[in-house]
Amino acid sequence: MRPLSLPAARRRAADVLRRVTLPSPWSLEDFISGIAAARGRPIVVEPATMSHHAVRATALWVAQPELDLIVVDDTASELYCENATLHELAHMLLGHEGLPVPQQAGAPAQPTEPTRVLHRRHHTDQRELEAETLAYAIWRAAGRRRALTTAHTGSNRLLTSAFEFPGKAHR
Ligand SMILES: [Zn+2]
Repeated sequence: MRPLSLPAARRRAADVLRRVTLPSPWSLEDFISGIAAARGRPIVVEPATMSHHAVRATALWVAQPELDLIVVDDTASELYCENATLHELAHMLLGHEGLPVPQQAGAPAQPTEPTRVLHRRHHTDQRELEAETLAYAIWRAAGRRRALTTAHTGSNRLLTSAFEFPGKAHR
């Protein structure tokens, strides 16, 4: 397996960021709508209780035949849910593949395994690094378009720590 490359992940994130349109003012819903329109497939975000004992919010992208389903952990705060959703959207924007539909036909995505384990098994670590780097880049760019609310003020440090890779990957 090739070693992880943060510079490569940053280059890919910058490339994608140049070609996506970020809503101004920032709106996650509008951002999702834009990506769905560009992909020509609906994106449905479905809250579900996935991680009673997980430290961080998780989400999962399940590629269904007619739509892309993002299952997001509803036990997390709104900001963490947004981060987890951005991570899954980043996988889409990077051209990665979603998890295939679970075996039981028609069954909603209810992962019995910890989501991150499922996720990791599906994507290589380099793809995880790319997705997290891009999610962070989108979040930072979106922040400039966010109305400065009291909820946002002072939360930067906290939310930055919600991203798995950029904070830990010191040069
Ligand atoms: Zn991922």
